[in-house]
Amino acid sequence: MSETWSDEDGVFYRLRQSSSVYIAHQAPRGTSYCWPTMWLSSKGKQPDYSKTKIGLDLQSICRGCTQIEILLDLHAESRKKGTPSPTGRLPFHNDFAEISECARRCHTCRVFRQALLTRCGTTDEADALAVTTRHCPVYVRPVFNYQEDSTQEDTSVERLESNVVFKIEILHHSDKAVLIPSSSTANSSFNLPENPNSPWIARQIKSWVEACHQDHRQSCAVLRWSSENPTRLIRIVSESELQLCSIDEQVQYAALSYCWGSQLLTEKDGELLRGAMTTMENLEQRYESFSISELPATLRDAITIFRRAGLAYAWIDSVCIIQGQSDMSDFIREAPRMHSYYGNASFTLAVCSNSRATEALLSPRSAFSEVTQSCHLRGRYLLPPLVTLAEMLKSSPLTKRSWTLQEEHLSPRVLYWTPNRIYWSCADAQLAETATPAVQPDLNDLNQDMPQTFLVACHHGTAETRHRGWLSLVTSYTLRDMSNPNDRFPALSGLASRYQSSCGQKNAYLSGLWELTLAHDLSWRVAKFVPRDEVDSSQTFPSWSWASLPLCHGIEYEAESQNPGGLEFVSSWSYDTSETDAIDDIYKGSRVAGLRVRARLRPFWHEEATLCPWDSILEQNANTQRDRSSMNPEFNFWIVPELPVYSTDPHTGLIVAYEARKKETVGQLDYISSVYRVLQGSLTIFALELTGRAFLLVEKIQDSRFRRVGIAQDYRSGFFDGVAVSDFQLV
Ligand SMILES: [Zn+2]
Ligand SMILES: [Zn+2]
Ligand SMILES: [Zn+2]
Repeated sequence: MSETWSDEDGVFYRLRQSSSVYIAHQAPRGTSYCWPTMWLSSKGKQPDYSKTKIGLDLQSICRGCTQIEILLDLHAESRKKGTPSPTGRLPFHNDFAEISECARRCHTCRVFRQALLTRCGTTDEADALAVTTRHCPVYVRPVFNYQEDSTQEDTSVERLESNVVFKIEILHHSDKAVLIPSSSTANSSFNLPENPNSPWIARQIKSWVEACHQDHRQSCAVLRWSSENPTRLIRIVSESELQLCSIDEQVQYAALSYCWGSQLLTEKDGELLRGAMTTMENLEQRYESFSISELPATLRDAITIFRRAGLAYAWIDSVCIIQGQSDMSDFIREAPRMHSYYGNASFTLAVCSNSRATEALLSPRSAFSEVTQSCHLRGRYLLPPLVTLAEMLKSSPLTKRSWTLQEEHLSPRVLYWTPNRIYWSCADAQLAETATPAVQPDLNDLNQDMPQTFLVACHHGTAETRHRGWLSLVTSYTLRDMSNPNDRFPALSGLASRYQSSCGQKNAYLSGLWELTLAHDLSWRVAKFVPRDEVDSSQTFPSWSWASLPLCHGIEYEAESQNPGGLEFVSSWSYDTSETDAIDDIYKGSRVAGLRVRARLRPFWHEEATLCPWDSILEQNANTQRDRSSMNPEFNFWIVPELPVYSTDPHTGLIVAYEARKKETVGQLDYISSVYRVLQGSLTIFALELTGRAFLLVEKIQDSRFRRVGIAQDYRSGFFDGVAVSDFQLV
């Protein structure tokens, strides 16, 4: 009788046996491997992995981990014989809660438990891991990296396989997969302080800040924006006392980037947070003195962290900008300056560990509640897990919010606070908290897309690298959420200011796009076309700007634009002409409603073309059968090659136009409503040339006025032949 544990790329068989002796045996013909598992608990079906024994080396090991050792033996054996190794993943515990319990006795399970906890994006997630993953088996997948050395023929198997990495996964929670490297020598630096108030953490922060300020003068200090202080700062008078102040002489202060979490708050918490804000009512009082207890937990703990790092001043938006529903004047004045506030800070503390300002930062770090010691599986010593900053950021609520994008990317130095570890990033170093100061893993190789890339490009990059940096930030920005859709441009305005001032020549800001690179900037493409019900008609953004898309709707840009455009910028106009005297250039630019451009325009499909069903022009092969929603479909127009046709696909929003014996042109519509209108015959689409690679799909509003409905990239050469350049308006 056999039962299968399987996954997409490999299968381990589990044979029920009465014996409790485990023997690895060859797979029967046709199966990949036989996997004996016999520790069925007396109670029921679940295998009992947790029984622990003590080996000759006094290392305590559970049955689950012993199975991993057998798997390693199987690998070694098949390698020796030259037969294929078993592939796939091996279940070794019934769920995370079981590992957590087992970790009290099994040394290796302790490392696995710690690794899975350090991989959690938020403190909440780490605290609830045992509950959210209940009954989800935990798997191990050994990944071998053989170092073939042709000069040494008699290389021992041990040496060949010393480079194994253990990938630990929880079923249905693939985002929490974590890699644990191993080595032939022991490593004892597993244990970081469980208590985040430990002086060790403050020392680590101080040493990072000092090293950067002293040793990275050429790479990091130069990224500082100016010597100005923010309009208001928080003076940290003592452990419990704070004071608002305005100071002329340059001081060192820390800035804070965090999630307010307004969408997640209970009414009581919301009230608490509103009470913590600085308003016209408490402003005067706060200039005298106020208690740290007036602030929510995240802000309180942040100020404590700053104080321990030796700083006497802090800048936090909700405390240093006067808040008020009715009077936005201070916000309007301060918002454009935010880029200098983050740009001038000694460092920015980025709170990645929680999604609400009411949650504490200084809460116990569960990954380190069990003291972990060096241990091995078949002679391979486990090393602390490799959890990179980039991986942590991907699962952090901070990277899902709009405002935090510029706070992070305008800061020359960022200290990342994650649930179980702190990280540092400056232009010169990407570091993770470690147990011993001597071992400082440099994560540079692992995180090529460092947060300071944009600042570095603005400071001494070429026009191309700067522009690439801008497009990559916008791409990330369109995926993020915000509580107030009116902040669509304000939350990006700091980055826009920084970009504009680095251009060195006049470059008008045009509702999220730039005058000097307009043709390329207009060529964004929706990552996925927008279903009708997602359109928010309350927003007024021009159709040609990515800002007109619903929030969290991603876009893509062509990586390179080597073909400078056919489209030329002439001028622009704004929604409200009365505001054109507004103080801030970027603010003005974010009110641009229309563009006057000079370019070539022609009908997208031939005037005699007929509309035909999408399926009738698709190449009928195995691929189209399997993947009906392919973004790169193959077409077949050979039935009547002289007949011009056009068609659109309601599943993808793709649209195609074919002219007799010419390469077809494929475009992407932004909204499903446009697809329906094409199918009903109520939408005629024109092509407006952008660059040699891309043109806009536009709809005529009146005369020479058009609005965007989509984009086409990689079109055939000669598409615009014989068309004269004219003036158009885009709205
Ligand atoms: Zn165990
Ligand atoms: Zn174990
Ligand atoms: Zn630095």
